[in-house]
Amino acid sequence: MKVNNWIKNIRSLLYPNGCLLCGAPGDFDRQFCPACYRSLPFNRQACHRCALPLPPATPPGALCGSCLAKQPPFDSCVTALCYEPPVSRLISALKFRQQLHLVEPMAELFTDRLGKPLRKPELMLPIPLHPLRLRERGFNQSLELGRVVARRYELAIDWRICRRVRHTQAQTGLNEKARQKNLRRAFTVCGDVNGSHLVLFDDVITTGSTIAELSKTLKRAGAKRIDVWALARTPGR
Ligand SMILES: [Zn+2]
Ligand SMILES: [Zn+2]
Repeated sequence: MKVNNWIKNIRSLLYPNGCLLCGAPGDFDRQFCPACYRSLPFNRQACHRCALPLPPATPPGALCGSCLAKQPPFDSCVTALCYEPPVSRLISALKFRQQLHLVEPMAELFTDRLGKPLRKPELMLPIPLHPLRLRERGFNQSLELGRVVARRYELAIDWRICRRVRHTQAQTGLNEKARQKNLRRAFTVCGDVNGSHLVLFDDVITTGSTIAELSKTLKRAGAKRIDVWALARTPGR
């Protein structure tokens, strides 16, 4: 009891503004007040292969039209949230304004959504940033978020096996074909992944071309199964 109070006091010093979204004072689970937590756009009804949000009445285990037409190179994908306000605002604050106190509560939203993984992967690989981008930003948000998730599930994490070897232009504004071309040979694998069950961790999945390109590279290197976990997914393609 005493220890709990002590932790509470420390937390209120660290997070004096209460709820991360509305600022309501209090020491909340996940740092969201109950009303804001309920209003978060969790991505519960989604294609189990690429996490594209599907209409609410879709039965569990359904695939989207695009995955039915052509299977992606990864085996499953789960994202906690839909990338829309207020989630997009929180992720931008984390990435572009170095609000690193958001890492822990945002990563916990992922573990809330996933619960216990059905098949535990052997190793987590965060999506790498190119060294130039890493220097500019100072940290890799996928690694920071992935670290919290990996700790929760007692998974090993390795941020050196996958490297981004080409400094690709920003993907925003490019269509699917142009994105694929832009990412070609963007990654290299420096390590043994032969026969392994991996999980990639990303902050935001937009069209899925980054995870597809990295998955292809890893499967060529012998990876047996690749799951993808991410914090958020854009609703459209
Ligand atoms: Zn709130
Ligand atoms: Zn799909």
